[in-house]
Amino acid sequence: LRMVQAAPIGADAVSDEELRPQGLDEFIGQPQLKAQMKLFLDAARKRGVAPDHILLAGPPGLGKTTLAMIVAHELESAIRVTSGPAIAHAGDLASILSSLEEGEVLFIDEIHRLPRPAEELLYIAMEDFRVDVVVGKGPGASSIPLTLPRFTVVGATTREGMLPAPLRARFGFTAHLDFYPRSEMQRLIQRSSAVLGLPVDDDAADQLARRSRGTPRIANRLLRRVRDWAVVHDLPRVDAQAVIESLDLYQIDTEGLDRLDMAVLEAICRNFNGGPVGLNNLAAMVGEESETVETVCEPYLVREGFLIRTPKGRVATRKAWQHLGILPPDDVNV
Ligand code: ADP
Repeated sequence: LRMVQAAPIGADAVSDEELRPQGLDEFIGQPQLKAQMKLFLDAARKRGVAPDHILLAGPPGLGKTTLAMIVAHELESAIRVTSGPAIAHAGDLASILSSLEEGEVLFIDEIHRLPRPAEELLYIAMEDFRVDVVVGKGPGASSIPLTLPRFTVVGATTREGMLPAPLRARFGFTAHLDFYPRSEMQRLIQRSSAVLGLPVDDDAADQLARRSRGTPRIANRLLRRVRDWAVVHDLPRVDAQAVIESLDLYQIDTEGLDRLDMAVLEAICRNFNGGPVGLNNLAAMVGEESETVETVCEPYLVREGFLIRTPKGRVATRKAWQHLGILPPDDVNV
């Protein structure tokens, strides 16, 4: 069971939709980001132009797609959705770009995974609003420059560092999404439960918030499992006990750590005696790509105080040892 994975799985991709806030006002938390975004969009609206391109960076499940949709909603524009991996050739991107209409929003998820030629085509399009369309093949091929209407790219990435500088420089507004604090997670759960028509007590929301890894997508997924429990047990409302019992059944960690988080902590403590251990060794030990360990797993573990990064590598803290239920060696001083 991958209950606590932050990426959308199966039917969740569909049910993500019903819980997605439409306007900026409904977007929970991230107050500073919301204020900046509001100013940015208001200014564009007032000037009557498509706003500058927007880059949204941060771990999966924190609201990047949602914000892209909100941008289009607030501007009352159409939105076109694609992703880096979906674009195999520069030509695929050229045909999307050449069909855009004035003011449209183009959402490119996982923009760091665009192939290089598409990337180059994109930053010219973003800067000069033109694209060279190649007609024909081989030596007889020619390219026709095409002027594009003004549009706004919203790019989302879990790996901002992988974007080449020229592409990154084309974004006028970059937002970094971070894990949500408990209080914001609670509000998010209250909002989602209202949408689902399922009353949830405050302390039940708090129990859910604790187990949600600071990630809205996970909170919504757990909430649906709790709803199953409430339906089966004919509960009129969800109390803390219902959350604890139902999520125990799914073996959800009380600190919200998922299997990869736990594997990383286990590896550092058991195989590397608490560290320091380098990223690549660690990733090899848990059988994951370094990128996933670095961008999905570590930021949360560091933020929650389970892990620290030192120049020599990753070190498990006392809290990590305790959480694993292992006695730390005497020399653990973090
Ligand atoms: P990402 O694109 O970063 O992976 P999504 O935008 O798809 O994440 O968000 C995942 C789910 O969490 C969606 O169902 C969305 O409705 C919900 N969500 C994310 N951020 C918020 C928020 N700030 N307020 C309310 N719901 C949110």
